[in-house]
Amino acid sequence: PVDRLPEIQEARLKLPVLAEEQVIMEAVRENPCVVLCGETGSGKTTQVPQFLYEAGYASGSGIIGVTEPRRVAAVSMSHRVAKEMNLPTQVVSYQIRYEGNVTSDTKIKFMTDGVLLKEIQTDFLLQKYSVIIIDEAHERSVYTDILIGLLSRIVPLRNKKGLPMKLLVMSATLRVEDFTENRKLFPSPPPAIKVDARQFPVTIHFNKRTPLEDYTGEAFHKTCKIHRMLPPGGILVFLTGQAEVHSVCRRLRKAFPFRKGNTTAGEDEEVDTSEATRKFKKSKQKKTVSLPRIDLDNYSALPVDEGDEDRQAGIGEEEEDEGSDLDLGDDPGDTEEKADPSIPLYVLPLYSLLAPEQQAKVFRPPPPGTRLCVVATNVAETSLTIPGIKYVVDCGRVKKRYYDRVTGVSSFKVSWTSQASANQRAGRAGRTEPGHCYRLYSSAVFGDFSQFSEAEITRRPVEDLVLQMKDLNIDKVVNFPFPTSPCAEALVAAEQLLISLGALKEPPHTGRVKDLERAKLSSPITPLGRAMASFPVAPRYAKMLALGKQQDCLPYVIAVVAAMTVREIFEELDRPAGSEDESSKLAQRRARLTQMRRLWAGQGASLLLGDLMVMLGAVGACEFAGCTPKFCEENGLRYKAMVEIRRLRGQLTNAVNAVCPEVGVFVDPKMTPPTESQVVCLRQIVLAGLGDHLARRVQEEEILDPKWKNGYKTPLLDEPVFIHPTSALFKTLPQFVVYQEVMETTKMYMRGVSAVDAEWVP
Ligand code: ADP
Ligand code: MG
Repeated sequence: PVDRLPEIQEARLKLPVLAEEQVIMEAVRENPCVVLCGETGSGKTTQVPQFLYEAGYASGSGIIGVTEPRRVAAVSMSHRVAKEMNLPTQVVSYQIRYEGNVTSDTKIKFMTDGVLLKEIQTDFLLQKYSVIIIDEAHERSVYTDILIGLLSRIVPLRNKKGLPMKLLVMSATLRVEDFTENRKLFPSPPPAIKVDARQFPVTIHFNKRTPLEDYTGEAFHKTCKIHRMLPPGGILVFLTGQAEVHSVCRRLRKAFPFRKGNTTAGEDEEVDTSEATRKFKKSKQKKTVSLPRIDLDNYSALPVDEGDEDRQAGIGEEEEDEGSDLDLGDDPGDTEEKADPSIPLYVLPLYSLLAPEQQAKVFRPPPPGTRLCVVATNVAETSLTIPGIKYVVDCGRVKKRYYDRVTGVSSFKVSWTSQASANQRAGRAGRTEPGHCYRLYSSAVFGDFSQFSEAEITRRPVEDLVLQMKDLNIDKVVNFPFPTSPCAEALVAAEQLLISLGALKEPPHTGRVKDLERAKLSSPITPLGRAMASFPVAPRYAKMLALGKQQDCLPYVIAVVAAMTVREIFEELDRPAGSEDESSKLAQRRARLTQMRRLWAGQGASLLLGDLMVMLGAVGACEFAGCTPKFCEENGLRYKAMVEIRRLRGQLTNAVNAVCPEVGVFVDPKMTPPTESQVVCLRQIVLAGLGDHLARRVQEEEILDPKWKNGYKTPLLDEPVFIHPTSALFKTLPQFVVYQEVMETTKMYMRGVSAVDAEWVP
């Protein structure tokens, strides 16, 4: 029996899934696999694990496992459920890549999908679970897709063994045919239960014009207008990336500062609440207008919850918003840079790289008398429900990593989002009362959006998955029941890379091209491949770890690999400045950080390890200083990244010891810099992992076009690639280099470059 607090019980009863508890539990009882869909906020993640708990699914030998594609969600949902059930975190726990609070008393375990995939490697039947919930399946993250494929086989095996297990796939969108209608996946289709999540209607307002360039400016103006003129209620702004989020936060804080005379409110600024409340009341009387007037005068109204047909029919006839030419209240002037101190706006950023304690702020009520405004990337689209949002401002775009299958070039591109995701974003406004969503694009543009976002697995290289699957003895990866298959080309490329790394054995073939292609897709794993699969990093880096024994290099290889696999260890140097004063401070800081990087790059032989030496130096210096936030701040390192590197070093050290106990490697916080011969060895190890990422400097006589100057030639690209000005090797320009990846920004730049001696080149 669960002993919930009365206020929790009351809030639960309002959630749409509660009305479906009987239906859901009956379906689970009678079917091995069930698909549950319901809009974000309907209570799937927080309530369904509780239903299962109360129905006794955690009272026998097995526990309830819930996977989330994002770490933030795994942690925050475990806390929320523990609180709702009035149970300690030893019972409702979480496990993410590096940390967790799981104990032997754990009954409900939230984890990232990657964590469960690793567990399958050690216990294919997942015997400690009586039920697995795959949450947020609509995100179609690679691990989620693979897990569904694997579980579609594990569940029947468990039943056959007399150890029954249940699978619940939960999704926020109704597009579940990829799961339910895929015969390869589920020979008999699982029942799909739909939770009617309609809570409050959301009115959609389209812009008449679609700003093609300055959509962040447009988002800022729209937010200002909402804040000035519309009744209380939180605002959620969707942008595409961290830089945009910060820029809009800065502008909003400037336009609506917390305190009189303070125009540079920082992240942790506290609000003078009594003053704020008074002014807010005053300003409300003066400036707020009622919603209907806005609807009639300036916007068309289109409830989001109406059936699709109605919506389609309505589109052509809409009267659309003119964009920023609105003249709504009594303050039509240009709002930019003009502070309006009378209305306190509590502005918070939200994106995945943000420190957890900053992220947690969005769940707490804003200071009394202020209006909450969260400026977010699409992390706020489905997995997190921010309380009290009444207005959504949607730029309609999303930033995604694109990966060219042929050339291997990565780039981040901002593109239109899908209709499904735009509707998800709109839905965030109707959680607590009727809401409004302001789309910064026209309905015609919306009509051109693709209906759904494509599955991640079709957009990225798959060598890590292929290796994991081979380690699970799935030799013919092409035959795996993927909800959406990666393309055959990507699978072939992955097997080829793994063969070249020595992780797979090239199968014998008869010489006919067709046979070769087929054979390539069923190469068996080698002992080296098994060792590599046990390291929680991508195959190229796993290979480096496997070679690290030479010349006592392992601690360095571990540190370098940890640094290379963590996102963005350095603070961005070219952050735009807000004012002149700020810009001179920034220039000073930039100079200091550049100097630090030069110091970390070392001298003489070390220099040739290039950017990887800078990473190694940074990790060494940071650990030596005790890995404090202060040290990171002063030296331009991202604290969150450094903490992650520290954990990863511990984890990789354990993994290496497990594979070869005789090396007895340990994490030394006072790691001395590598010797000259160790640096040479490290460079060779790096080459062994990144051998297919070799680039040769373009010779004088090859330069036909001035843009080829200082360029490098790679086997796969016709275009030259370049060393970035912030790279440690920018001035050296070695004849040969290897790189981590090519990222296309203003040019094709190599990231993570280190030099290769000419005689090493095959
Ligand atoms: P779903 O998974 O269907 O999107 P959730 O179970 O995540 O829905 O959320 C159900 C409700 O629980 C939300 O409407 C939200 O108000 C509430 N909730 C979720 N997390 C928290 C939290 N950390 N603090 C307060 N309320 C929360
Ligand atoms: Mg959820």
